[in-house]
This record gives sequence, structure tokens and C-alpha cells, in this order.
Amino acid sequence: MSKGHVFLVGAGPGDPGLITLKGLECLKRSDVLVYDRLAAPELLDYAPAETRRVYAGKSPERHAMSQREINELLRREAEAGRSVTRLKGGDPFLFGRGSEEAAFLARHGIPFTVVPGVTSAAAAPAYAGIPLTHRGLASAVSVITGNEDPLKEESSLDWAHIAAGRETLVFLMGMGNLAAICSRLTAGGRDPATPAAVVYRGTYPDQRVITGTLADIAERAAGAGLTSPAVIVVGEVVRLRAELSWLEKKPLFGRHILVTRAREQAGELSAALRELGAEVSEYPVIRFAPPEHPELLDSAVRRAAAFDWVIFTSANGVRSFMARLAALALDIRELRGARLAAIGPQTARELERLLLRVEALPEKYRAEDLARALTGKVRAGDRVLLPRADIARPYLAAELRAMGAEVEEVTAYRTLRAGEDAAAVQRALRAGRIDAVTFTSSSTARGFAALVGGAEELGRAAAVSIGPITSAAARELGIPVAAEAEEYTIAGLVAALSAYFSEAARLHAEAVK
Ligand code: SAH
Repeated sequence: MSKGHVFLVGAGPGDPGLITLKGLECLKRSDVLVYDRLAAPELLDYAPAETRRVYAGKSPERHAMSQREINELLRREAEAGRSVTRLKGGDPFLFGRGSEEAAFLARHGIPFTVVPGVTSAAAAPAYAGIPLTHRGLASAVSVITGNEDPLKEESSLDWAHIAAGRETLVFLMGMGNLAAICSRLTAGGRDPATPAAVVYRGTYPDQRVITGTLADIAERAAGAGLTSPAVIVVGEVVRLRAELSWLEKKPLFGRHILVTRAREQAGELSAALRELGAEVSEYPVIRFAPPEHPELLDSAVRRAAAFDWVIFTSANGVRSFMARLAALALDIRELRGARLAAIGPQTARELERLLLRVEALPEKYRAEDLARALTGKVRAGDRVLLPRADIARPYLAAELRAMGAEVEEVTAYRTLRAGEDAAAVQRALRAGRIDAVTFTSSSTARGFAALVGGAEELGRAAAVSIGPITSAAARELGIPVAAEAEEYTIAGLVAALSAYFSEAARLHAEAVK
């Protein structure tokens, strides 16, 4: 059998977006994935379902697998002809023993590739607004292990040399020795007034940064409760953070937001929130399922050509309808006779992707507005198909009938409850760890109320809704709505969250003044 291959891949420091394209390729292609504790958990989702995932779980206190066991695992899998991705936090060749794994592979004649990664030594300071060099302030930088007790007699580090000069110092694995590191540096001649920073969980949405001087940084970091993983930066460059900090300025930085949409829909909202600095947890309270009587949908799909209008009230409705069209070996030409309407831009986009032209799209995105947009367009005697959710409101069909249309409603998909394990969410809410809960439909509000609860369970978390119908549904369930989108779209919801928290921050700033 041909020999396999090991890819030693840098996962980056935490933010999953900081993996390299080449690293991502390895994740997508490997048979076996061996990963550490620090690798961003989201990255594992890029590997195919059939990829075997092995947690090598190195942590400062505990080794899930010894280094020897890891080496043997890499060797065994490669010798069995498999492609192995060894995912390591940050850069594989900067601490973290990647070079030892490579040396082992080299000794055993196992071919390997090293894919460098974005190291926390550079990324954590960058996300804190601290450049490692800056003209006039620092022209060199040292990356140093903080693992060694600097007060012990025998040290492999030349502390006199490290302490001298003006270059930037970056310590990894140093939180256990922070105070000793600082006193060793000042004893060696660094000015105790030298600026210093600790960047805890750099590049993660809950990143925290403490600044001070060599004289007080240890005390300040301890006071703030900062532990590992953290990068310690020493040098004049730390001053630049006052001007260059950027992550903390994002409108949703430091806010933890719960997304309750169905799994397959959550991604877009989560990504938009993360872009604005939020920490996002997905807790889908609903899921979609095929209709209980698929033959009714199939029958409507087969007769699509006979309708004057097909009106879609959700992107999900479009997808379900088109999926049946394909399953029945038909195609979109069945819709040639029908004019199409969509309730909002997302639904319209789903149709336009198939090069279908949408002839009616309301200004606001509720059934009431859609009915208005169709007034004068839909005529008496028109045959209208309404593929919709099982739980849709009767309003639109009634309005269309009042216009004299012959309306056929058909269930295109069902909305079911999801999210069995509400205990974790309830715990997080009770501990005040969630700042906002988002509702993108009445059914998400209903699902949340049924699974998690109402005002009491919500605690101090703000409920934010996509529009008035959803807000009304939430209020009816005893969920007070703190903010509502002006435009009834995901973008509108994100804007409402931003505005809500900017206002909260402004009020807070005023109160402490
Ligand atoms: N190879 C890794 C370093 C491994 S040593 C790299 O290139 O980043 C582990 C140390 O890295 C931790 O003790 C901590 O000092 C640092 N570290 C890793 N991820 C970090 C993060 N997100 N924020 C701050 N420090 C981090």
C-alpha cells in the first residue's frame, strides 16, 4: 500500500477566519484529523463527516494523549496509507512541539508537509491594536517562552540579554510566571515604567486586554482574573493601543447573542453578528420538515403551469417547492405561465437565483404589505397558488380571495420544535452570560417560550425581534421585546441590535460620568 502523508497545519490563534487557504484545503481533504485544545472548534466543521476526528487535547494541566502516543498515531495512520491533518494552534513551528512531531516523522521516513499558521504571538497583539514593531519605537521583537521559571538558577534563557535593549518582547505560556518575568526584566535593567499588556484569548470574541507597566501588569492581570491562554507583550509599542485598538470599537463587541433560527438558516445572521464583533451562540428552537401530506404539494407542483400567480412567503417555501419540482423530474419551465410574488428580499433572491423574475415585492415585508402590493395586480378569477408553511397566518389567502382570486393554499414545509436541551441556555441566561436573544419569526418566539421560557427566564437579556408580527407573538407569550427591526429583514435585525447596544453603551457612559 502506498504511504500516506501528514500535514502539519497551523490552525491560527482562535478566530476561525485566520486559518490559511492551504490549511483549509488540508482540513477538507484528510481522512484523519488530529487536533489540539486551542484549535478553533468551528474549524472541525470544515472536515467532511466521514473524516475521523481525534482529540489530542493538550492543555497545561492535562495531557489527553502523551506526545509519544500522538507521534505513534500519526505514524500508524500515515503508514496505513491515510492522509492525516495534524491541526495545531497558531503556527505549528512556534512552540507547541510541531517540530518534534516533524522530526519524528522524518526519522520514520513518513512524508509530511508543513502549513504555517497565524501565530498568537502576532495575532493576539494585532487584535489588541498593538503592532510588534513601529518606526521609532521598536525595530526588533523576541518571542519567548514564559514556561520557564525565570527565578530558577539554571535557565536556557539569557535573561540579561532579554532584559537589555528596547526591543519588543512577546511571552507565550507565561501567565503562571508573569510576576517573576516582570521582576526578572526590571532586575536586568528594563525600566519598570515600560508599558506591558496581557492579551487573553486573543482574536476570540471574548478577548480581553489589560495594559499597565512592568511594575504593575502582574497585579492588574491578576485583579482582572486573566489566566491562560494569554500573550504578554512588553515594550513601547503597547502605547499604540490607545490609538489603534479596533476590535473593542465594533458595535457588538463584548455582547453575547443567542440565535434561535433553524440550523440551516442561522448562518447568515450569525456571520453578520460576528462581523460586528459579537460572540454568537446558535440555539435553534425550530426546524423544518417536509409536509405531512407531500402528495398535496406534489400535486400543486405538477399543476404549476395552470396558475396565474405563485406567491412565496418565505425563502424556505421557494426551496421546498423547487426541491419537489426537481424530485418530480420537472423544471422551472412549469412556472412559465405564472407571475411570481415574494414577501421580501430574501425570498425574492431565492427566486432570482433561478433566473425567475419577481413581479411583486412589497416595501415592507409582512403579509399585509404583500397583499397591498398585489392589489390591482391580482385580478378576479386569477388562479393563485400559495405554497407556505403549515403554520402560516390565514390573512393573505383571505385578502386574495377578497380580490376575487381562486386561491389554493398548500403546505410546502412544516415548522417543528427543535432544541431539546434547554438547560444549558437557561443556565447561561441565569448567569447573565447572554446579552440578547434574537427572534426572526413568530415561530422562533413560540419555540423559545416553549423550550426556555418567558420574561423570568430571559432575565437581563434583551429580546430583539425582526418585526411587528414577531414582536406581537413574543409579547403574547410574556416575552418583553426590547428592540424591533425597522426593516423586516436580517440586515434590519442586525441594525436594530447595533442601535440597541450603542444606546445602552451611551446610557452607561453617561451614568458613570
Ligand atoms: N503554536 C502556538 C503557540 C502554542 S503555545 C502559536 O503559534 O500561537 C500556547 C501558548 O500560546 C499559550 O500559552 C498562549 O500564550 C498562546 N496562545 C495561544 N492562543 C492564544 C490566544 N488565542 N490568545 C492569547 N494567547 C494565545
